[in-house]
Amino acid sequence: MEPVSEESIAVTHPFLDLAPLSAAHFASIEDRVARLLATEQDVVIMQGEALLPLEGAIRAAAGPGTTALNVITGPYGQTFGNWLRDCGATVIDLAVPFHTAVTAARIREAFAAHPEIDFVSLVHAEAATGNTNPVAEIGAAVREHGALFYLDAVASIGAEPVLPDAWGVDLCVIGAQKAMGGPAGVSAVSVSERAWARMAANPAAPRRSYLSLLDWKERWVDGGRKALLHAPAQLEMLALEACVERIEAEGLEAVMARHASAAAATRAGAVALGGGLEPYVHEAADAAPVATTLRTPAGIDASELVAKALASDPVLPLVAGGGALAREMVRVNHYGPGATRGVVQSCLGALGAALAEFGVPVDLEGARRAVAEAWA
Ligand SMILES: *Cc1c(COP(=O)(O)O)cnc(C)c1O
Repeated sequence: MEPVSEESIAVTHPFLDLAPLSAAHFASIEDRVARLLATEQDVVIMQGEALLPLEGAIRAAAGPGTTALNVITGPYGQTFGNWLRDCGATVIDLAVPFHTAVTAARIREAFAAHPEIDFVSLVHAEAATGNTNPVAEIGAAVREHGALFYLDAVASIGAEPVLPDAWGVDLCVIGAQKAMGGPAGVSAVSVSERAWARMAANPAAPRRSYLSLLDWKERWVDGGRKALLHAPAQLEMLALEACVERIEAEGLEAVMARHASAAAATRAGAVALGGGLEPYVHEAADAAPVATTLRTPAGIDASELVAKALASDPVLPLVAGGGALAREMVRVNHYGPGATRGVVQSCLGALGAALAEFGVPVDLEGARRAVAEAWA
């Protein structure tokens, strides 16, 4: 090839013209993610948004011989149940109202009623509904029973402890786009030896497929992580490395504490604001540190309230609930760089001003004080 003359490249760009990402560099990013999860399990970074390993892990580990307990505490649980059924698994759905969390006792009751359960799928925290589930206690129940434990920790990682080894999680999926403050285009899953064995024994597990975890096991992990399966999503990998670096620099404990403060302050601020805006998740212990959901007062449409609030400050992390919840739920997505006192104050200020525009009396100063007190 002719050398490219300097004139032929108009401008260099920081996102472009990068040296290829080496296998060793890729492996080092995996190791860093493994440290974040405090896990000795294999951690595979998947080259797509978290739905890729979420679906890949279910299709690999579940099949016609599987009896799955699918815990539904929000919309993701519903999706997992559909994938499990599509794989031919027998699915026992355990749904709890979205304003609560599931308990380990409910899981034990399900095992007692259906001893054949050999797979449990659970969402740790649900950003969509604002609840979080007691995974440590549930993990103990799942381990006693001996089922394979699949966990969606996309909305919990970085916001609260996620400890697959300590909790006995066999398949733990994370994404960087929430509390890690990172990219959405890559994701990771930690895989236990038991889970690899279950996949290897499943003739319907995806192979030679973008969904395949076994491809990464056989051609990447077992090969000593020397050669990548295909060109990696280089920019997203570098962004993932950068966001883990930033978490390490602040300290994971400090990052999690910021999210816990943001959730407590949003909850306290909303209550103090009054005007009928209420925490959607009834018990504070069941509320996720990643995002706080609020119920709008009767007669006030949540989408309209959010639109009014965003009219004054369009960058605030406020959204209306998804689907049917769009009328009654406001989500404050105080995660990643949004987990600050300033963001929480601005969100409640904007919601309070919007409620006032609807003619609802609110206590803006009380909300401001409550946020400051709850944060400290
Ligand atoms: C956010 C989230 C995901 C990833 O979904 P996106 O909508 O693509 O961000 C997966 N699971 C849970 C529980 C989540 O909260």
